[in-house]
Amino acid sequence: MIGPQHAAPAAESSAGGAHFAFTDRWGGVSAVPYEELNLGGAVGDDPAAVSTNRARAAGALGLDPARVVWMNQVHGRDVAVVEGPWGDASEIPAVDAVVTARRGVPLAVLTADCTPVLLADPVAGVIAAAHAGRPGLVAGVVPAAVEAMTALGAEPSRITAHTGPAVCGRCYEVPERMRAEVAEVVPASWSETSWGTPAVDVTAGVHAQLEALGVGDRHSSPYCTLESGDHFSYRRDRTTGRLAGYVWLD
Ligand SMILES: [Zn+2]
Repeated sequence: MIGPQHAAPAAESSAGGAHFAFTDRWGGVSAVPYEELNLGGAVGDDPAAVSTNRARAAGALGLDPARVVWMNQVHGRDVAVVEGPWGDASEIPAVDAVVTARRGVPLAVLTADCTPVLLADPVAGVIAAAHAGRPGLVAGVVPAAVEAMTALGAEPSRITAHTGPAVCGRCYEVPERMRAEVAEVVPASWSETSWGTPAVDVTAGVHAQLEALGVGDRHSSPYCTLESGDHFSYRRDRTTGRLAGYVWLD
């Protein structure tokens, strides 16, 4: 959300009754270094500010903030199938993907450099949100989410996929050995920084995994979180906020 006067998310799109949105860092009430629209509850920000920000973001999308399903993300590949919002914070499981076949249950993923992945098969009425950093890419959290969607009646050929703002393959520098280890599992993730050193392109890896599963309708955010002053970047700022990706069905 660019500025509080704009009651709209930074990027939103729709496909056959499925909706996808990614926030940026503006339009919230959090103080430095979480300014402004931090949606992450576990990064040291004032919980009241996060709650206000979540209400603002949901309201701008026409969603009830109390219905939004969040995750306790741990860089794994476990998936939770949900039928409604969690009762309270202690019920939120340690998973990196959530899937639902219920309408009126928006799913959300938090990131600051990792790749947020939103998936929807509007025909089957099945959606998923996933958190794919480097470990999640290697572990296969996105294929696990697609598998869980398929078990609920989705078909990969009908799935629309959106990846959100994330650190790009020309910025995400890693040691040579780490690049090799990731590329051994997902060759498309092999990358090089703009200054010529080894790098990993998580988003490219996620798209390759989706392509291999038959998910052809794929879209990617143009923003690199590390390069963009409008997005949170853990690599750039260390102590910072989290942006959110939301997916829901009419
Ligand atoms: Zn970049």
